[in-house]
Amino acid sequence: MMRFETDHRGFYGAFGGAYIPEMLYPNIRELEENYLRIIHSDGFQEEFRRLLRDFAGRPTPLYEALRLSDYYGARIFLKREDLNHTGAHKINNTVGQILVAGHLGKKRIIAETGAGQHGVATATVCARAGLDCIVYMGALDVERQAPNVKKMKMLGAEVVPVQCGNKTLKDATNEAIRDWINHPVDTHYIIGSVVGPHPYPDMVTRFQSVISGEMKRQLKEKTDRDYPDYILACVGGGSNAAGAFYHYLEQYAVNLVSVEAAGRGIHSGFTAATSLLGSPGIIHGSRTLLMQDEDGQIREPYSISAGLDYPGVGPLLAWLAGTGRASVYAATDEEALQAALLCARKEGIIPALETAHALAALEMIPFRREDVVVVNLSGRGDKDMETYIDKLGI
Ligand SMILES: *Cc1c(COP(=O)(O)O)cnc(C)c1O
Repeated sequence: MMRFETDHRGFYGAFGGAYIPEMLYPNIRELEENYLRIIHSDGFQEEFRRLLRDFAGRPTPLYEALRLSDYYGARIFLKREDLNHTGAHKINNTVGQILVAGHLGKKRIIAETGAGQHGVATATVCARAGLDCIVYMGALDVERQAPNVKKMKMLGAEVVPVQCGNKTLKDATNEAIRDWINHPVDTHYIIGSVVGPHPYPDMVTRFQSVISGEMKRQLKEKTDRDYPDYILACVGGGSNAAGAFYHYLEQYAVNLVSVEAAGRGIHSGFTAATSLLGSPGIIHGSRTLLMQDEDGQIREPYSISAGLDYPGVGPLLAWLAGTGRASVYAATDEEALQAALLCARKEGIIPALETAHALAALEMIPFRREDVVVVNLSGRGDKDMETYIDKLGI
């Protein structure tokens, strides 16, 4: 029997673990020794559920997309994570982690962000909790994602532009880790996906698993069966996919489909198809699949969507790909743009560019008419309107 939970050292099979500088041991150990006890406590569970319901707006609907169903010849449902407060699934994780930080007595929160969605979700929960919030963001992303920078500032966060490297997500992450090393006692680092050293991938997966937990109940109501034939999710770090897959990991009747960003084509040199092109290596504290050259230098990723533009992937997603439990597809920039347009015109829903990659995979799978397919609609497209208008020539 294949296992899809971490072992006591934080490994999913060959992937995971905690490869960290010695200076980080106290922080990681404190978190590792306490997170399960905190998460399982009655007080935490009660508050987590209350906040997800009354603050984030859960449960999110499972919507049967009738016109897309007609078009693709299968029964297609959309899990509406786009309807969450702040516009994506990211809030599920930040609500969980801010409570953990509170239980650990932390007074200061740091985070990294690329497109700014995780930064906004973190600034949001910090404002509510009355905690200081510092968000590290590549200087290039600060320019590209101005609306989200403004939101973080209005919410009271300090946004620190990072000038190293190519000034994007990878560099922001390095800077956040550096900050954490310098503030080991009072600071909690809210990582935005199922990446980083153990216990982050497991902790974030648990918080995002609310997605498939709801899906089970909702499918039972709408289809008389609590599982679908397929679940499709886009993969940047892999947190929306991990959450949408979680309760079905050991149920093999459910086909799990990860969709990565092919960029301009997976062999174009401009791509973020990490588990398709990657090989095992270590990035940001865990052993996983990453895009690297023969010398182990990380290859710069590229995607039209800032949220998928990351050279690694969470260790659970690497393990699901490596064992064949999940199938991995890749959608190009152009395929994602067309899929977003189709969803807008057929269903009246403008998806995030990240999400559009998952929708694009509907074209690639030969469904049967009776198949039940769930696409995890990870976020809404407001932040991407400029790109859509520009690239689609609307
Ligand atoms: C951040 C983001 C993603 C990518 O992150 P994962 O951890 O892979 O889920 C996908 N969709 C949206 C809308 C996002 O904001």
